[in-house]
Amino acid sequence: MSKRIPTKIYLNENELPKYWYNMNAVLKEKHEPALNPKTLKPCTLEDMEKVFCTELSKQELNTTDEFIKIPEEIMDFYKMIRPSPLTRAYYLEKILGTPAEIYYKFEGNNTSGSHKLNSAIAQAYYAKKQGLTSLTTETGAGQWGTALSMSCAFYGIDLTVFMVKASAEQKPYRKAIIETFGGNVIKSPSETTEVGRKILEKFPGTGGSLGCAVSESVEIATNTPNCKYVLGSVMDHVLLHQSIIGLETQKALKKYKIEPDMLISCVGGGSNFGGFIAPFIKDKINGKKNYRIIAVEPASCPTLTRGKYVYDYGDTGMISPLMKMYTLGNGFIPSSNHAGGLRYHGANPIISKLYHDGYIEATSVNQTDVFDAAITFAKSEGILPAPESAHSIRVAIDEALKCKETGEKKKIVFCLTGTGFFDLAAYSDFLNKTMENYIPTDEDLQKGFSTIPDIPQNK
Ligand SMILES: *Cc1c(COP(=O)(O)O)cnc(C)c1O
Repeated sequence: MSKRIPTKIYLNENELPKYWYNMNAVLKEKHEPALNPKTLKPCTLEDMEKVFCTELSKQELNTTDEFIKIPEEIMDFYKMIRPSPLTRAYYLEKILGTPAEIYYKFEGNNTSGSHKLNSAIAQAYYAKKQGLTSLTTETGAGQWGTALSMSCAFYGIDLTVFMVKASAEQKPYRKAIIETFGGNVIKSPSETTEVGRKILEKFPGTGGSLGCAVSESVEIATNTPNCKYVLGSVMDHVLLHQSIIGLETQKALKKYKIEPDMLISCVGGGSNFGGFIAPFIKDKINGKKNYRIIAVEPASCPTLTRGKYVYDYGDTGMISPLMKMYTLGNGFIPSSNHAGGLRYHGANPIISKLYHDGYIEATSVNQTDVFDAAITFAKSEGILPAPESAHSIRVAIDEALKCKETGEKKKIVFCLTGTGFFDLAAYSDFLNKTMENYIPTDEDLQKGFSTIPDIPQNK
């Protein structure tokens, strides 16, 4: 007889993966290269290095090495926060009355509260090694700013975080954590940059946007000696670092010979999803395994399910490299009543390519259904999930309920990316029934699509 699967499947320290997994080395067809926004030619290492750290730029362009060694120092940091447990959701299964087996990989067990720290620590390490003295970044909801602030504190690097003004005011405690770890938070748009001053002149009193915060961060990084700009999602090197999630998941599943039928996670820019599925994708591409891989996004920001597969800028300021990706247009702004995160207009190029070629599926969910699932999960498993993570819970529950009808014992594995402690205002809105669903019409989406650049590559 098979052993009872423990509620928590842990790996010990020696079992921690020592290599990251690079999906770019196993894609049957490579994705289209990023383009220099000025020349529209593929980005070279020199182009990348102007904005990003050198080693990260090399990782971004690496399409040959399937495994990339995790430096010792990063391993040592990972040992403080990892491995994260893979949990069998026995209580959730019971509440649902499903014959399905549900497993989740919880990435919220560190102070930053999400998976973002996996890449933040790596990026701060490479910056330190390169002799940089400061970094800049932007943050929307604040998870990335927190993770990077923790990482910069660890390596003694100065950090400036441009935080979207509306978010900084809605989530004052996020700002406080970033500052506790020494990060310098500037509400964006600000008077400290040329682009910020221009925007303030044009739109006094604006709450800001991620696109504007990116432009401010890049301006400071390119004008300051020994300073670079870092990003917490969307780029291939961020997915590379996040592959630690998938590698651990794969190892833990193997310990109990669990063969997953479905892998599910939410997509904002695509970093946790990409990292979670990374080591599973080769077998899927080669046809050795036929698991379903499902990306979940909000109905109010439907990048994969309703976006276009074209070249677009990563930011509203149109200064970042152009990437071939599913996009709603760099000018897309989700409805202001959208509370569940995952509001980025594009999706990472690897994820976009895999979706375009039919290796993965995508689905979208309404925010009230997401919070409903979050509460079912919190009550049964005792973890208050981040709204982003609750997108995956929604789909995992729906799939488990389908199994209840068919009697199938499918094995469903999802990534629980973070905790919801900073999102209690959104939980209150849901409980008070003031939360609304918003699904953009085709006309609404057209406004975003009209901001997609009219370049020969998009013809
Ligand atoms: C940032 C974040 C996400 C979405 O970002 P990806 O880069 O798509 O992974 C999801 N969940 C949590 C908790 C986050 O902080």
